[in-house]
Amino acid sequence: MPLQNLPAGAQTPYYYYDTNLLDFTLDALQQAALPHGYRVHYAVKANANPVLLRHISHRGLGADCVSGNEITRALECGFAPSDIVYAGVGKTDSEIALALRHGIFCFNCESLPEIRVIHEIAAGMGTKARIALRINPNVDAHTHHYITTGIEENKFGIYLYDLEHVLTECLRMPHIELIGLHFHVGSQIIDMTVFRGLCLRATEILDKIKDHGIAFPYINFGGGLGIDYHEPDEHPVAPFKEYFDTFARFYHPTPHQQVHFELGRAVIAPCGSLIARVLYVKEGKKRKFAVLDAGMNDLLRPALYQAYHKIENLTSHLPEERYDVVGPICESADCFAKDVTLPGTQRGDLIAIRSCGAYAEAMASRYNLRDIAPAVYSE
Ligand SMILES: *Cc1c(COP(=O)(O)O)cnc(C)c1O
Repeated sequence: MPLQNLPAGAQTPYYYYDTNLLDFTLDALQQAALPHGYRVHYAVKANANPVLLRHISHRGLGADCVSGNEITRALECGFAPSDIVYAGVGKTDSEIALALRHGIFCFNCESLPEIRVIHEIAAGMGTKARIALRINPNVDAHTHHYITTGIEENKFGIYLYDLEHVLTECLRMPHIELIGLHFHVGSQIIDMTVFRGLCLRATEILDKIKDHGIAFPYINFGGGLGIDYHEPDEHPVAPFKEYFDTFARFYHPTPHQQVHFELGRAVIAPCGSLIARVLYVKEGKKRKFAVLDAGMNDLLRPALYQAYHKIENLTSHLPEERYDVVGPICESADCFAKDVTLPGTQRGDLIAIRSCGAYAEAMASRYNLRDIAPAVYSE
């Protein structure tokens, strides 16, 4: 039970991070990835908290960034420029220049207009940009449509029908060094057949473009491995072995080809909880509402993606009842869970919303002019 050492009397709401679980997770990840020679980058957007980033850089992961500020933060927290990759559909000129100045490992590029701008800026700086093409492989991740990124109807990546043309254009740009292909098909994927499909599609694509004579020493399969939001104590660590073994079985790199991954949620989600207090219990006609002092500004995922998070009452031993657990914000979407079973809940009870290490603190806002909740660590 990871939530035993909460600080007594701390002001709620706050994010609680179990750094022992984080270290344990990082060990499990490396044990599963290293035998295959895989290189793993942590997706900084999942949680850019500097204390956690330092744990992650110390364990030897690289960083996957989606903005110039994330690159700066990653460098401050101990990631080497040669371990940083940079993705995103809308890189600005100044972000591109910053990445070039630091000599990051690779730009994962999403369109030909973007590559042309990178080429121009690199030429102006008298340097060469290493790039990979982010391919939209048209593989359906079978996850919520807001977190599906690898099918043709969304904005991400270079579409397959455009690939030959983009390759030809890249080879004409002297300040662009095309080193690889990049894929990322979605998030919270627990069905390994999705990753098998991705391996087969990647193999097919590489085979189709082999006549261009590009070596592609870098293949990046992105992130997206899911966690168990329903049973966080039974499955505190993501199925890393199953995940990497799937790639080892279905994707066979050429000699000298390094395979990379970019995991966010699977690394950081399980170690975090949002801790809140019950302000009021309000009785409606058909249901009871437990009104917390945490809101959708502290944890947006339920409102944004209808995401499920396990909710626990840490202080009550009363008989169970059913509640809608809601926040204080003036939006109907400010609801963490509908009709869940909790021990009888009263004003002042301490509530844990579990698996909040990823996309919670990172998405916090000051909506309603609320304060940003602080972070508290187990160590
Ligand atoms: C968000 C993102 C990731 C990480 O996704 P997770 O589901 O958190 O593992 C990796 N790569 C790219 C390009 C992303 O946008």
